[in-house]
Amino acid sequence: MKIADVTVQSFRYISKTVRDSEGHGHPGPEHEATQSLVTIHTDEGVVGRCFGHIAKPTLENLVKPILVGEDPFYREKIWRALNERQRLNLASLVDRVLTVVDLALWDLAGQALGQPVHKLLGASRDKVPAYASTMCGDDLEGGLATPEDYANFALWCRERGYPAFKLHTWQPPYAGAPNAKRDIQACAAVREAVGPDVPLMLDPFHYYSREEALYLARELEKLDYYWMEEPMDEHSMSSYIWLCQNTLLPICGPETAEGKMYTRAEWIKHGACDIVRGGVGDVGGITPLMKIAHLAESFGMRMEVHGGGVGNLHVLCAMPTPGEFYERGLLHPFIDFDEIPPWLNKPIDPMDDQGFVHISQEPGLGMDINMDYIRDHLVVD
Ligand code: MG
Repeated sequence: MKIADVTVQSFRYISKTVRDSEGHGHPGPEHEATQSLVTIHTDEGVVGRCFGHIAKPTLENLVKPILVGEDPFYREKIWRALNERQRLNLASLVDRVLTVVDLALWDLAGQALGQPVHKLLGASRDKVPAYASTMCGDDLEGGLATPEDYANFALWCRERGYPAFKLHTWQPPYAGAPNAKRDIQACAAVREAVGPDVPLMLDPFHYYSREEALYLARELEKLDYYWMEEPMDEHSMSSYIWLCQNTLLPICGPETAEGKMYTRAEWIKHGACDIVRGGVGDVGGITPLMKIAHLAESFGMRMEVHGGGVGNLHVLCAMPTPGEFYERGLLHPFIDFDEIPPWLNKPIDPMDDQGFVHISQEPGLGMDINMDYIRDHLVVD
């Protein structure tokens, strides 16, 4: 079997999420947005698909020359070739491109063999408990504008079945943000509302000083929080080593730092995190994320997967030392997260009332794609 072509289809849909000036999503008025589907075609008619975008010059000049004519089962060879080509193409061949290609190749392998990806990886389970992961704070009345709003929403999420809850607190451009004291007020309100037994996590503003990060950590120790992630710029590994040495609160990272499995190895070696972190979108796909999972296992460390989506769910169901939770969200009181997007016939991460997300047993990534919707809403360039 050989790869014959790689195509990108972009299509329109109506979004209810708007981005603030810093790029964070919040509920907002309905507006038109675009989504893309990447398809890897083979000479035998088997295809692999993944949602995500590849810009045309990158597709034609970098991705297709590496993929077309190659055996689609040679994922390591393809991933390595893309990784090496990044060195002189940092602005165009970003890790997100590697992610979408790698996920589409895993989907293709599953379609060809009639097996879901987590079983090709070596499955460890078929369902994962989720935590409710909130959007960032806002100034919407009844939204996530006050500590009490977070507390009320945490109670709603517990009622929906989520066994754990993570706050993303206020960030610029919201007035008064960032403010470590206000973050702790929200964390304390949530702890008081849900009681002592619910695992709680914080993901605050990412550019606090060492002293502010340590203040957060010490206060969260008192509130018995489960972990904190990314309170400082992750490019300063020394700051994270310092933080880990000064708090008993588990520090989870790195999340957004570049460098794929290499960065995670350095953080583990230097004691810059207590819980290793990464998601398919951060590190370039399932292929490198499984390497990080094995690295965490080998060092006897916990690993928590960043973000939702089918790729992360398959990795979570194949990790040797299971990541404890699936990150479901981002959630907000005004948004129905269980609403199925129009380009899918079924949700990709259905959660039962016990808070377990169940993985699809269909071949590949297991997405039930509404191709008619995509064809009817194509953006023609
Ligand atoms: Mg995070």
